[in-house]
Amino acid sequence: MYILLMGPPGAGKGTQAERLIETYGIPQISTGDMFRAAVKEQTPLGLEAKKYMDNGQLVPDAVTVGIVKERLAKDDCKKGFILDGFPRTTSQAVSLDAILQDLGIKLNGVVNIAVPDEELVRRTTGRQICRSCGATYHITFKPSKKAGVCDKCGGALYQRDDDKMETVKKRLSVYAAQTKPLIDYYKNSNLYIEINGAREMDAVFNDIVASLGKSK
Ligand SMILES: [Zn+2]
Repeated sequence: MYILLMGPPGAGKGTQAERLIETYGIPQISTGDMFRAAVKEQTPLGLEAKKYMDNGQLVPDAVTVGIVKERLAKDDCKKGFILDGFPRTTSQAVSLDAILQDLGIKLNGVVNIAVPDEELVRRTTGRQICRSCGATYHITFKPSKKAGVCDKCGGALYQRDDDKMETVKKRLSVYAAQTKPLIDYYKNSNLYIEINGAREMDAVFNDIVASLGKSK
């Protein structure tokens, strides 16, 4: 099962990926992990990527694409994979098509977990974290017994700067602008599967599996 997984921050992509890994027995390949592994193994491309990262520069597409290709050719990808965080641009998507063709792989689907912005804002801005023990809460979905106080240790709860309204809204608009061309690209290739992510995790998961089943 070869899956490309997309979804805005807060859509629950991580949770769904975990369940897909279990269900299909396939690895999740994320760009961050891939870079770290290539650097650690000191492959020629990994060393090349490191030069850019050490200078705080973006790793050029040619290097990224090379690293993706090496990763997808490994044995643990023989039964499939969940690709996460790549491609980010249509030119990377074109490169990915070429890689997959070289490897004789056909994607089963490009799954986008779509959630309306208002819902994402509600989910993200409601998060609270304990300053003392790091326990996590949510004002609506998982409230502490006493407002602002950790159930476990009595510590004070706070909101991360990343979860503040303006930051979240900005992040979502950047994401939407970046992703739109990519979604259009995959709509054209008939691989695109949009899943309504504004539901219970189980319902979302069952929908993903059913849609992928139909795509075969
Ligand atoms: Zn605590």
